[in-house]
Amino acid sequence: MHPFSLVRPKTVREAVNAAAQAGADTRFIAGGTTLYDLMKLNIEQPRQVIDISGIADLSRIETDGGQLRFGALAPMSAVAADAVVSRDHPVLAEALAKAASQQLRNMATVGGNLLQRTRCPYFRNGAGGIYPCNKREPGSGCAAIGGLDRGQAVLGTSEACTAVSPGDWPVALVAVDAMIEVLGPDGSRSVPAGELYRLPGDAPHLEFTLARGEMITAIVVRKTNAGRVSTYHKIRDRESYAFALASAAVVLDFDGERIQQSRIALGGVATRPWRAPDAERLLAGERLTPELALAAGHASFREARAGRHNAFKLELGARTVADALLIAAERRR
Ligand SMILES: Cc1cc2nc3c(=O)[nH]c(=O)nc-3n(C[C@H](O)[C@H](O)[C@H](O)COP(=O)(O)OP(=O)(O)OC[C@H]3O[C@@H](n4cnc5c(N)ncnc54)[C@H](O)[C@@H]3O)c2cc1C
Repeated sequence: MHPFSLVRPKTVREAVNAAAQAGADTRFIAGGTTLYDLMKLNIEQPRQVIDISGIADLSRIETDGGQLRFGALAPMSAVAADAVVSRDHPVLAEALAKAASQQLRNMATVGGNLLQRTRCPYFRNGAGGIYPCNKREPGSGCAAIGGLDRGQAVLGTSEACTAVSPGDWPVALVAVDAMIEVLGPDGSRSVPAGELYRLPGDAPHLEFTLARGEMITAIVVRKTNAGRVSTYHKIRDRESYAFALASAAVVLDFDGERIQQSRIALGGVATRPWRAPDAERLLAGERLTPELALAAGHASFREARAGRHNAFKLELGARTVADALLIAAERRR
């Protein structure tokens, strides 16, 4: 691991100022469950690390009133266990509870989870030049394309990168139209969760839309009645804990027996948390049947492109969406 200096600000303002002074080679660290791994692998080599874990008021969970507000440092396990969150927005609680292991969720934060980097094996295991990776080393190529691509994305890919966006929580946040509050050298702003992530295009090393020195301070979700009619359904190789092969976050708004509006987001299959508007349109105004649920699942993958070993994700993903729709619909009773 490369040497680095460590600062421990006590306030958000101190943290942002420290980042502004340090320039490009700086990283915030919260739970440290992913950044330290990447530093040990020499994929991340910051000269300065800003440990924000001591900023007390950043871990607050607020559920009163018309919105849910999670401080960026709230532990994933605490948000998952919150009674109001799991009753009124099960999609959020389930996405967190199905991510990583209990020990990791106790350390990891809801802010850090949004900015974790891909688990593509060619990205993580190739530092030192064993495998080319455009995300790790721009312009070097992509060993996953034409390689062992079982885990790679089928949506949002480019000629330069097929790496999956790994997080579960961002998928749920995209489905509920969450807003991400950030503070940076130029002040504060709110970003829709879906707009935090870039498509890889020809610059896969640029993953997030945060400006240099911007820090996530909170995540805000508007409370809706439809929130209760929701789920996060995740399929993985190992049920105890593993990243998603395919997942679906679903929120359903019913008018009587018919779906008035649905929100569907996909994980494990795309290069960023992936909204499925074709499926949402197909469901609008309809009664949900198992056949329609499966048709919506297939509509979600209309634009998908498979590689050598990951074509199974198209059918698995479609069935994951279908199951999620049926699970969520049961909750309206
Ligand atoms: C074995 C294992 C299994 C896992 N399985 C899953 C899984 O199934 N699903 C899943 O979703 N995740 C999984 N994870 C990932 C885990 O959820 C993340 O490591 C964790 O959420 C990151 O949070 P953190 O607070 O530890 O982030 P850190 O490691 O502290 O930081 C992560 C990144 O976010 C940046 N950052 C952190 N906080 C802020 C902030 N407030 N503002 C700006 N930048 C910030 C850091 O600079 C860094 O780049 C797994 C991890 C491991 C090790």
